[in-house]
Formats: sequence, structure tokens, C-alpha cells
Amino acid sequence: MNKINIKFVLNLLSKNEKIGKSDAIEIISFVTRIEYSEVLFSLDNELSRKHFKQIIKISKSVAKGKPLAYILGYKIFRGHKIIVNKNTLIPRMETEQMIDFVNDFIKSNNVKMDILDLCSGSGCIGISVALENNKNINKIVFSDVSKKALAVTKTNIVRNKLSNKTEIVKSNFLDSLIANKNKFNILLCNPPYIDFNDKDVDPTTLKFEPKLALYAEDNGLFFYKKAIANIDVIMKTEEKTLLVFEIGWKQKKHLEMFLQKELGLKYNWKFEKDYFNNWRYLIIKN
Ligand code: GLN
Repeated sequence: MNKINIKFVLNLLSKNEKIGKSDAIEIISFVTRIEYSEVLFSLDNELSRKHFKQIIKISKSVAKGKPLAYILGYKIFRGHKIIVNKNTLIPRMETEQMIDFVNDFIKSNNVKMDILDLCSGSGCIGISVALENNKNINKIVFSDVSKKALAVTKTNIVRNKLSNKTEIVKSNFLDSLIANKNKFNILLCNPPYIDFNDKDVDPTTLKFEPKLALYAEDNGLFFYKKAIANIDVIMKTEEKTLLVFEIGWKQKKHLEMFLQKELGLKYNWKFEKDYFNNWRYLIIKN
């Protein structure tokens, strides 16, 4: 068999439309243990037969539609390595931007914040906030309804040595948190928000991810409405507060109507677009 180098493999994988260039680099990096950022500088490196076979095996699964993050067991989110498995949603690029709103808020307020990562899944949101702010955080609570997802949250907390400023609460959305009388300055939530009847969603791209993390009743609005109806209960409204939700790109209009009715002028709320120009975030402040 001829010698095989990284350049050859990269070309080979790139021929498959289902495997983007960054996935191809990620696969090579994972198998060879060459840093992602070094792969393109290592094109002449030769690969062992074993590594080559492993790369081909992984590529075949990706070509069949299996998400790369589930094969590798992690996803890079804001540059942080976040462990995932089939019980958690795979962190999305759109979600990364939520943390910018939070970081700005934390930096501009000189008080120790209590933060809630609601529907934490892998914990990617709260972990990023913790890693990117070394002061002004009192505690970050991670909460999810799924025990299996919380096990992954825990893994990510421990890997990042964040146990001393974090807590995990199993809760059916806000139920146990409210029962425990927990209150927060910041609430971050990327809830399940896909409408069961949404015809624009291609179910084949989501079939590997937990339904519980994706779909919601009431045209996908169920969790926003529940959270908004409980703002006064769950937030430290006597102090500065911030709520950031990720939303579906078609949900702004319906949420606006609900917010006008429910919150009126009591809170400031606005919507922000993501980098793809879709309405993607709802931000509420007092
Ligand atoms: N907070 C996690 C994420 O944003 C999980 C969200 C969810 O399960 N709906 O990826």
C-alpha cells in the first residue's frame, strides 16, 4: 500500500458533500491527536494504516448522517471543549452568541451574580459563562429535567474544575427551583422550542438528538410562556436582572404579543438577531 499523508486524506474526505472541511479536519485531529489548528500545517505527515482505517470508519458514519459530535464525544463551543452524548443536545453555533450578552452584563455590574442555566443539557452555556468570567459570579445553578443530561452537565463541570461555584438541580423546568425558593440575577435558557407541526424542520437532521431537548407544546412557545409568567418568582427583581432566551427564528411575532400582554412596561425586553440575520434571542431586563 502506498504511503498515505494528511493531505491525501483531507482531499479524500472533502470529496464527500456530507463532510465539511472543518469536520474533516476535526476527524483527522481526533484520530491522530494533532491539534485542530495544526492539521493544516501537517499535510505531509504520514498516517499509519490504523489511523487511516479509523478515519475512514468515522467518515462513513458522518456521511450516513450521524452527528460528528456524538462520534467524537465532544463539541467545541466558544473554544471550550464540551462533552456531549446522545442524551444531550449538540451545542449550536447560534447558542454561542447568548454568552456575549451575559458577559457584557456581568462586566458592567459590579455585584456577585447568581446565575441559572435552565435546560442545561451538556451545560455548554453555564460552563462558558463560568470560564469566561472569573469575578462577579456568586453561583451558577444548572438545571434540567433529564437525569442523563445532568450527568453530562456534571462531567463538564468536573472537567473544568468548576464544582466550587456551581450546583446541579434536577427540575421539571422551573418547578423544583420555585419550590426550593431559588432566585437569580441571570437566567439563561435555550429551551426546547420546535413546534411538533413545523414543516420547515428536516427531521432527518435531528433524528439522533433527544426529542425532549428539541420539541415543545403550544407551537413551541410553552417554555417561554412559563418562564415569563414566573419572572417575579424566580428572579431577584430587587436587584439588576437579565434573562436571555434563544428562540426559533419564526417565533418573534408570537412572543411579542405575549410579552406585551404579560409584561407590559414592567420590564424592558428586546429581540436580537444572530450572525445569520435571524431573530434568535429574547432579552429581558428590569
Ligand atoms: N443548554 C443546552 C444547549 O444550549 C441544551 C438545550 C436543550 O436541551 N434544549 O445546547
